[in-house]
Amino acid sequence: MSIIKLDQNTINHIAAGEVIDRPSSIVKELVENSIDANATNISIEIKDGGISFIRITDNGDGIEEDDIKIAFERHSTSKIKDTIDLASIHSLGFRGEALSSIAAVCQVELITKTKDSMTGFRYRIEGDEEIGFEEIGAPDGTTFVVRNIFFNTPARRKFLKTASTESGYISEIIEKIALSHPEISFTFINNGKTRIYTPGNGNLKDTIYAIYGKEVTDNLVEVNYKDKNIEMTGFLGKAIISKGNRSNENYFINGRYIKSDIISKAIEEGYKFILMQHKYPFTVVNFTIDNKYIDVNVHPSKMELRISNASEIYPAIVETVKETLIEKPNIIDAKIDDEKKEEKKIDRKPEPFETKRNVEEEIVPEKTRNIPKPKSADYTNIIKPKQEEVHEQLSYDFLSEEARPKHKIIGQVFETYWIVEYEDEMYIIDQHAAHEKVNFERLMKRFENNDVSTQMLSQPIILNLSMKDANVLEQYLDNFNEIGFQIEPFQGTDFAVRGVPSELYTIDSEDVLMDIIDNFTAEIGSMVPNIITEKICSMSCKAAIKGNTKISFAEADALIDELLSLDNPYNCPHGRPTIIKMSKEELEKKFKRIV
Ligand code: ADP
Ligand code: MG
Repeated sequence: MSIIKLDQNTINHIAAGEVIDRPSSIVKELVENSIDANATNISIEIKDGGISFIRITDNGDGIEEDDIKIAFERHSTSKIKDTIDLASIHSLGFRGEALSSIAAVCQVELITKTKDSMTGFRYRIEGDEEIGFEEIGAPDGTTFVVRNIFFNTPARRKFLKTASTESGYISEIIEKIALSHPEISFTFINNGKTRIYTPGNGNLKDTIYAIYGKEVTDNLVEVNYKDKNIEMTGFLGKAIISKGNRSNENYFINGRYIKSDIISKAIEEGYKFILMQHKYPFTVVNFTIDNKYIDVNVHPSKMELRISNASEIYPAIVETVKETLIEKPNIIDAKIDDEKKEEKKIDRKPEPFETKRNVEEEIVPEKTRNIPKPKSADYTNIIKPKQEEVHEQLSYDFLSEEARPKHKIIGQVFETYWIVEYEDEMYIIDQHAAHEKVNFERLMKRFENNDVSTQMLSQPIILNLSMKDANVLEQYLDNFNEIGFQIEPFQGTDFAVRGVPSELYTIDSEDVLMDIIDNFTAEIGSMVPNIITEKICSMSCKAAIKGNTKISFAEADALIDELLSLDNPYNCPHGRPTIIKMSKEELEKKFKRIV
């Protein structure tokens, strides 16, 4: 298809603005061009964060000789002709501005060859000035080499960050684009090292594996939904791989990587029942929405778009996410096969890629302390409106009210894990994680409902603190007292603890408080008050659960009961699993009863 210069009327309809502000925007524009050119292999190589060198090679359609110079003129494109085309855009690009903008601020070299041409061509342009045009031998496809961004506008160069930050932005863009196109193989090489390689075999899960590694891939639930307004395919991460920020919320509309508040909100709403506050899910979801409802011509970087049927698709997304997660509870399968055998074989390049760990692990210090014994009477006050609503929809019923009487508690092993049999599955519940979770939820519910309850101590505990620790405690005293501690300044840098939250009555308050204060000094500064309180809750609960303590069947029964009634029984507040399961089939395979 030949490249034309758009007429003024069409140009006037295109969202105006600068698209090249840093190396990552060059990478985004050029990779999008390669995708639009039907490439199945795209390799991106950078040096110095892309500031001095970017090379993008594709095996796509190439540019015809007569079109090469025109491609670098403003508003020249092969993707649309007029305002009518603008109304339904099927390609990633359409503005016809990227190449001219890049050439204006960089030194650019283009080598391209179409299948029908006998030879390739090399074109060089630096800061809008043509340097050379010649015929050369080249493989089918296109290579762009972009050197020295802002070489002619040093003032703009100053706004760039360090090479490692800039290469981080580039890596992120490539990850997202690769996830949105599993049928294309992407290679990203930074300073000579391969950082990303995706197989391009069309399998989204393999692409996720290549980028995020095994831990993430092992904790995904497939999503598949279609109605007249929207189609949704891809994967939702279980709660265990959620993060404290939105960087792993990947979603695409019609193959385009975008950011959309409405989509983020819908996904998070759907996840609400299994995620703690301030945790954000891992997702890779492709939305297909009829082009007539989508306007991508809103922002020059094409990262934002307008969705005109948002009110119809919003509830569908929320429900689909929720139902998908409910049907496949976030219980981890305890696979006992050799892990290596399980790893999916992906056709990889020899160099190792970087994988990311997304699970924040916190290790519970092994100190021995009493665990609060659950009293059956306590369980009657648990507020459950939300989970009832959730349970109603449970197709998987380990968690349902009806399933409850059929749970058979088999016993405890290693003074820590409770084994529960239910139908053809064996569930293993970590007593300590369960306690921690149950206590945390109780404390948080009480705090949220303004209903904290304090157990007064017969003898106050006096905390002797250093000046620094006393300052910290003084500063956050309200947060402690909000969840049921009763602490007040005593003498000098000493504090008197007169009461503790009823849920944590049996804890060794002095140790717990000292632990919390120790941990505080380092990280708490930038948090908002509610998060500080939540943090105190979670730290208190973690500290309250210790050691290999034996509890009775009745106590275990009550604990498991309460755990299973929670909105999210699957993880402790620190993200570790509380329940894992192993199927009868798995065991039978292991014993070679079945193959
Ligand atoms: P747009 O993508 O909006 O059309 P660009 O300035 O990014 O505008 O590119 C101008 C034109 O150059 C494209 O329309 C396309 O025809 C051609 N082009 C750019 N990159 C490639 C590529 N890698 N392979 C084939 N053609 C390309
Ligand atoms: Mg383009």
